[in-house]
Amino acid sequence: MRCPFCNHSDTSVKDSRTTDDQSAIRRRRVCGECGSRFTTFERIQLRELFVIKKNGEHVPFDRDKLVRSVSSAMHKHSIDPEKIERVISSTIRQLETSGETEISTRLIGDMVLQSLFNLDLVAYVRFASIYKEFSNAQDFIDLISRMEHEETLETTHHNHHSNAP
Ligand SMILES: [Zn+2]
Repeated sequence: MRCPFCNHSDTSVKDSRTTDDQSAIRRRRVCGECGSRFTTFERIQLRELFVIKKNGEHVPFDRDKLVRSVSSAMHKHSIDPEKIERVISSTIRQLETSGETEISTRLIGDMVLQSLFNLDLVAYVRFASIYKEFSNAQDFIDLISRMEHEETLETTHHNHHSNAP
């Protein structure tokens, strides 16, 4: 595999292990030329997915693009890359098993948002602001007040459990 930093083709695998959820093999690689380290994942693809963009165009689903947009939502926010992988994997697995081969960007965004909500609220807000193209402050206020409401419900739920005998 080519080095993403210097484009050299001589990279080697340092270690290889399955991810915690066993859905992929994670390989840490190092470039023999510039010494850069990077990680690759080997995964199962159940079916080829196509995305229907807002302008009606059909394009092959680009997993890396989705990883990049979720990662950028996590910017300066220390989240294990494997957690991002898990969000993406579970989203894709749902899409692959949904029976639909052509999926709207809106559906993908909604599904990722749902997973992020459970994982990381800051990332959720950031991703929502990019994905939903928030145009004004009121959009943020609306989203955050909805989140606070849901979080209250969630907390109440957890407390109830912890008090149980
Ligand atoms: Zn390199």
